[in-house]
Amino acid sequence: MKTIFENEKIECYGVLPFSACKCRRPDIIERKGVRAEEIRSAILFLVPYYIKDESGNISLYARSGDYHFYCDALFERILPLFEEKYGGRFLGFADKSPIEENIAASKAGLGVVGDNYMLMNEKYGSFVFIAEILSTVSAETLGFSGEIGEISACMHCGACKKACPMVIDGMECLSALTQKKGKFTEREEAYLRKYGSVWGCDLCQLACPLTKKAIAADIETPLDFFRENRISTLTVEKLNAMSDEEFKKRAFSWRGKAPLLRNLEILYGNKE
Ligand code: SF4
Ligand code: SF4
Repeated sequence: MKTIFENEKIECYGVLPFSACKCRRPDIIERKGVRAEEIRSAILFLVPYYIKDESGNISLYARSGDYHFYCDALFERILPLFEEKYGGRFLGFADKSPIEENIAASKAGLGVVGDNYMLMNEKYGSFVFIAEILSTVSAETLGFSGEIGEISACMHCGACKKACPMVIDGMECLSALTQKKGKFTEREEAYLRKYGSVWGCDLCQLACPLTKKAIAADIETPLDFFRENRISTLTVEKLNAMSDEEFKKRAFSWRGKAPLLRNLEILYGNKE
């Protein structure tokens, strides 16, 4: 396993028995043609995405291509290698997961769970995506140490709450608002203008001392995918110049172009 992950520049991973993961959606496993009862282990791993970047109007996670495409390609490369080495079935998941990823990742020793519910990794802070490989092979065969970690919590310093627009302004999460469809109320427009985001919000992450430590240490992702095709600041021109195929490969595309164009118009007065 070490070699498979090393060849992909993935440094943070851990193995758990599947019984240690809260499985909320067995149907997601079953869609891949394996019964949930057959799953015996979970390999949790982290996909770091942080790159030191100019300031912009797009959340840091959405500046490169959508990580779902990265994970799909990664799974295509590595799942056959796991099956060849260990036998059994290996199934890859990212985001649409049958288990509670941040809790399982913490139990696998990959970080602490922050008050903002994000996983904070010691090296990369919260600028990581969590992904996992579920397998019909036992955790022991995959190198499970025999110890399930506690779900570690952060130090509850409160900095994320102090920096959070939702708490400061008594509104909904800014990230959720930027992704909402439809027309905004005047209050929502003023809220969006105050923080200047076209998509997402990183303020709770940027305020966290654990993430600040990672930024101060100049820790950037070793993964090329997250260095390429970056957009820090979205404009109407950039949006309109993208082909449909290019747009679909962006994390900010899943609600279509309309919410982005609305946000751009509110912030900069651009017309569609
Ligand atoms: S994403 Fe922004 S608004 Fe949402 S919880 Fe974090 S800081 Fe608050
Ligand atoms: S800012 Fe403080 S309370 Fe919030 S997640 Fe980070 S360590 Fe925990």
